[in-house]
Amino acid sequence: MNYANLKILGITLPIGHIDKYHDDGFVESILKHSLELNKKYGKTNSDCDIKACKRAVGTSYRVCINHRIFYYHIFYVKQPIESANIFVRAHEETHALNAFEQLDTLAEKLLEEQRVKINFKEIDESEVIANLGSLYALYARGIPQSEIEWLYTMYGNDDSGTTAKRIYKQFELPRKRFFLF
Ligand SMILES: [Zn+2]
Repeated sequence: MNYANLKILGITLPIGHIDKYHDDGFVESILKHSLELNKKYGKTNSDCDIKACKRAVGTSYRVCINHRIFYYHIFYVKQPIESANIFVRAHEETHALNAFEQLDTLAEKLLEEQRVKINFKEIDESEVIANLGSLYALYARGIPQSEIEWLYTMYGNDDSGTTAKRIYKQFELPRKRFFLF
């Protein structure tokens, strides 16, 4: 059995006997690493890849054969502050979790650890899902709300970050209240 070790989310996933997951870690350049992987797997470089890579601070790279994943890589560029690294890495790990169709594992952790009940089947936007993974990882480490807001303005791509924060708050279960008499 092969496993995907999603380090920031704290999830180890069984992914069958064929698929392989690689966390390539911090790289100097997303574009350079993507082109190296293209070379390794004999893929041609598309203009679209290149444009996206120039802006990206992290990415998920997959090689599919006959509509199934064979190799899944994540890699990212080191950010100046630790919470930003958590943000970026958890985002890519959640894309991987989604690709391997195992978002239920994250849903369980959100419910058990943070009392947030999210049904990922109702969210069809993969960037919103990836941003929810980042929120989970940041709250799990006790990162202050003000810093999270700042991270979402710096790193949250377009509206998906705002949508993810709204969904997280919407599905937060009420805390137990204790009354003292
Ligand atoms: Zn993404």
